[in-house]
Amino acid sequence: LNNIQCSLGIEGITNLFEVMNSIYRIDSSEFIALDLSEKNRDGFEILIGIILSQNTSDRNAMKAFSRLKQVVGGNITPDKILRLDLETIINAIKIAGISNRKAKTILNIAKFLSQNKEFFDVLRKMESEEIRKTLLEFSGIGPKTADVFILMYYNKPTFPIDTHIRRVLVRLGYFKVSDNYENIRRSVVNALNNDVEKLKKLHILLIHHGRMVCRAQKPQCLQCVLNNICCFKIHKMEIQ
Ligand code: SF4
Repeated sequence: LNNIQCSLGIEGITNLFEVMNSIYRIDSSEFIALDLSEKNRDGFEILIGIILSQNTSDRNAMKAFSRLKQVVGGNITPDKILRLDLETIINAIKIAGISNRKAKTILNIAKFLSQNKEFFDVLRKMESEEIRKTLLEFSGIGPKTADVFILMYYNKPTFPIDTHIRRVLVRLGYFKVSDNYENIRRSVVNALNNDVEKLKKLHILLIHHGRMVCRAQKPQCLQCVLNNICCFKIHKMEIQ
C-alpha cells in the first residue's frame, strides 16, 4: 500500500459506485448481514450474525449461526440463549473463531434484551449517530459491528469499513493508509448524501471486489474493471 502515488477526490465515489453497481451482480447469500436482513430476521438474530462474522469469513459465520440455531432448536431468541451455558455457546460457534469472546458478547446482549424487550424499537426512533453511541457501549460491539447493524437492520445511513473495503479504497486513491475508520466513514456517507441504498450496495460491492479481484496478495489488476482509475494500478504501470 505504500506504493500508491496519486489521490482521487472523494466526490468521485459516486462514479465508483455507478461503475461497480453496473458491472457486479451480488449474491446476498454470501453476506451474512445482508442475507439475514433480506430474510427479515429480527434484530437479535441479525446482531448475532454480525458478531459471529467479526474477524472471520461470512461463510464461517453462517456455519456458526446455523449450528447455534440447531442447538437452540429454531429461531435464536434471548430467552433461548439464556437457557444455554457459556460452554455450550462457545462450542456451537467455534468455527467462527474467537468463540470465547463472541459467546460472552452474545450472552450479555441476551441478558440485556431479556430485561429490555423494547430496546431495538427504542433505537429505531433514533438517528444513526445516537444508535451508534448506544451500541458502542456494549462490550464486544465495535464501530464496524454497530455500523453494519445500523445499515442492514435499521436502514439508516452509515458506512461500515472492513479490511477489504479499507484496502480497496486506499489502493484506488480515495484515502491514505493513515486515514482512520471515522474519517473514511464520514467522508463516504457525506459523498453519497446519506443515501442508504447506495451506502449499503457500495459496502457490499467493495467487499466483493476485495474478495474476488483486489485481493490483499496478488491483486488482479490486469483484469480489474477499475484499473483505469486506480492509483495503485497507475503506479504499477509506471514501473513496468
Ligand atoms: S487496479 Fe483493481 S485490483 Fe488493482 S489495485 Fe486497483 S482496484 Fe485493486
